Amino acid sequence: MEEELSSFMESGVYRLSGLNAIFIEPVRVLNASYTRFRVSTSMYYRRSFKSDQTGSVARVRVSPDPKEGKNNNKKKKRKRGSHILNEREKSAENRHLEVKSLLMRAHEACIGSSEVLSFLRELKGEVEKGLGAVYVDDENSLIKVGNVWQAPLYEMLLRFRVDETDEEGEGRRVVLNGEGARVTAFNNLICNETSDDAEAEFLDRWYLLPKNCCFQMSDLAQIYNLIPDHSDLGFNLIVIDPPWENGSARQKAMYPQLPNRYFLSLPVKQLAHTEGALVALWVTNKEKVLAFVEKELFPAWGITHVTNFYWLKVKFDGSLIGELDLFHHRPYERLLLGYINVKGMDSGPHLAFKPPQANQVIVSVPGDYSRKPPVGNLLLDHAPGPKPVKCIELFARELVAGWTSWGNEPLHFQELRYFMHK
Ligand code: SAM
Repeated sequence: MEEELSSFMESGVYRLSGLNAIFIEPVRVLNASYTRFRVSTSMYYRRSFKSDQTGSVARVRVSPDPKEGKNNNKKKKRKRGSHILNEREKSAENRHLEVKSLLMRAHEACIGSSEVLSFLRELKGEVEKGLGAVYVDDENSLIKVGNVWQAPLYEMLLRFRVDETDEEGEGRRVVLNGEGARVTAFNNLICNETSDDAEAEFLDRWYLLPKNCCFQMSDLAQIYNLIPDHSDLGFNLIVIDPPWENGSARQKAMYPQLPNRYFLSLPVKQLAHTEGALVALWVTNKEKVLAFVEKELFPAWGITHVTNFYWLKVKFDGSLIGELDLFHHRPYERLLLGYINVKGMDSGPHLAFKPPQANQVIVSVPGDYSRKPPVGNLLLDHAPGPKPVKCIELFARELVAGWTSWGNEPLHFQELRYFMHK
């Protein structure tokens, strides 16, 4: 147990024993991408922390007055009782009932673990301590800049740390490469091929590029530039978090959304490696979206759906961010997993890779709006094809060491204000 805990402090991944559940601490997971910097815990969790203080998270109202809460519950129950579910709502409710006990077991294991609870308490203290230094937001600027007519003319300055012999010839030292390199900022595959953090300046702001990462900042119309010349150079692990149409993101104007039909033309097949790829797709709980994925999107992409993972969202005290049964605001999200181009998927044990265990539950405290926990590297073992696994994230808002990230704002969470020096 002690060994498990010390490895958790290092990796941010804690397997809850005897269950298909994993508690993860995203900041620790993300930190593995950096050498000289670390992700700021306060910046990562500021939204959850604020919600904790006001007693509500993700628009789920939790009454501070237990009596009031009781009355509200009665009202809710009455309302639910009197509402007759239509066919779509019935399917949604059935999906929920299928996973409810699995999620409850994972949650019970989480709050039953004194290690997880004491860790969460400490984490909250850490967030609180650093909140004074947290910056006011100026979100969405990369999306806006990418849409102006001058966008193709914008450049970015890259500064890498390189080895060079010092003047006395006494040995090698690591320095920032003087003037840096100017590159086209949009619709260009930009890579940090060094094994150290690099920095990029764009429109007077600084961004951090983790070791061995690539990114392309562009609109969907230019994603085709990422398709490899030959599928032997394709990706074996593809994580996708589409901007599904959703009332709350629209209301808050966090980022532009796309109608479902746009995703049918995503070149997922063309991005995949000859020997196949594991595809992980984040999907909202909307029945319309889930049915679209199962009936149209996965068939169009040529994906064999194998299982789902569930991301269960908790607060710093370990409680769920909202009632499990609340119809429109479930405290969990789904990650659908499937394979593309893999021959003989039914031959199980003979496969050259290990398919994921079914129905895993990932438990964590949420970060910023729509920010998903960094589960990509947990999937590496399940990717088919040659090693090291070639990984890409579509609609990304951050970079990860060893991965290619694409979207219209892949540098969003890379701005230096989200980091601290180690
Ligand atoms: N996975 C991300 C995270 O954890 O922070 C969240 C991704 S968010 C659900 C969807 C992303 O798709 C947003 O960054 C949005 O700006 C981007 N997006 C929307 N329309 C796009 C388009 N036409 N081309 C490229 N990216 C787009």
